[in-house]
Amino acid sequence: MTEIFTGSFTQQEPIPDEAIEAALTVLRHGRLHRYNVTPGELGETALLEQEFAAQMGAKYCLAVSSGGYALATALRAVGVQPGDAVLTNAFTLAPVPGAIASVGARPVFVGVTDGLTIDLDDLAVKLDQARVLMLSHMRGHLCDMDRLMQMCDAAGVIVIEDCAHTMGAAWKGQLSGRQGAIGCYSCQTYKHVNSGEGGLLITDDEELAAKATMLSGSYMLYERHLAAPGPEVFERIKYTTPNVSGRMDNLRAAILRPQLRDLERQVQRWNERYVEIETGLRGTPGLTIVERPEGEIYVGSSIQFLLLDWSSERIAEVIGRCGARGVELKWFGGAEPTGFTSRYDSWRYVDSTPLPASDRVLAGIMDMRVPLTFSVEDCRLIARIIRVEVGAVFQS
Ligand SMILES: *Cc1c(COP(=O)(O)O)cnc(C)c1O
Repeated sequence: MTEIFTGSFTQQEPIPDEAIEAALTVLRHGRLHRYNVTPGELGETALLEQEFAAQMGAKYCLAVSSGGYALATALRAVGVQPGDAVLTNAFTLAPVPGAIASVGARPVFVGVTDGLTIDLDDLAVKLDQARVLMLSHMRGHLCDMDRLMQMCDAAGVIVIEDCAHTMGAAWKGQLSGRQGAIGCYSCQTYKHVNSGEGGLLITDDEELAAKATMLSGSYMLYERHLAAPGPEVFERIKYTTPNVSGRMDNLRAAILRPQLRDLERQVQRWNERYVEIETGLRGTPGLTIVERPEGEIYVGSSIQFLLLDWSSERIAEVIGRCGARGVELKWFGGAEPTGFTSRYDSWRYVDSTPLPASDRVLAGIMDMRVPLTFSVEDCRLIARIIRVEVGAVFQS
């Protein structure tokens, strides 16, 4: 009998009841705008910021409209100007170069290793080309953050972390997003907490926090924030920082707060599923497991493996055969960007130099979401299907 998987790779869990109740409270009082509070009321958005700052051990937190908006705001806050070069990963998602382009800056792509992290040797060569690195922890893979920070600190390069896939992850005990000057998170449906759209930005730098807050559209109401610096810091920047509206609202904040309190448990559940799939795939001929480095605590909300040096035709055959059995694989090596998947040479608004070593890795990256609606048993079945189909094409 041929086993078929019937689950949906895009179906996340429902919003928890506690979050639904909190949302209904906001809907019933009608004060959805974050600064629309009654005397003495703190507001869901301000509370969300206060709680996330505490959870991350950060001094300051700002909630915004999306992860991409948080990234662009971080670039503006650190003073990136039109025409500036910004280093970033060749292996990432379109909103990352998009954030750089949105401030008129120019992405300079740094290669990817077969561990799916930024190539630090390539970074070393390019460090003198920019004063900012937008580091994308793409699909949750953390590079050697000690080495990266040493290199960037020594070169005076400011690090902005894209933690869209590392909310809840850590490097040697330090939460992801706490190494660079600014950490940015996404609260979009496919990430680790779900408010449909939304973003969070954290920093310990008072001036960056004040600028980001003004940029997000605080008007002169910044004193209503609970995780922002004092008014004296805003005094220094309030006349020279433009308002580029992108605030979070109280409805989304209300549904995020209970989810963030549950993050650690969700991370464990993701990792149970991840390990099940990884174990099931291990030893498949022709398939390379992406080994996780010691020192990394990851969040297995998606899994990647490599079909290194396989021809496009054979990879397409694997995707087709797995798809026919209900297992949706995404491929970063396709000639054309499809769905959420694109690659550095798909972003033709950027003049990119070819990265042959990265091209070899990108051509072989297979990517799969692991939503928490999958059971551990589902994950075993998925691994069995991939194993059989990769094996069949490999041996043919
Ligand atoms: C989703 C994502 C973003 C952007 O987040 P949005 O909230 O969708 O704007 C940035 N970087 C990566 C790697 C992502 O996956």
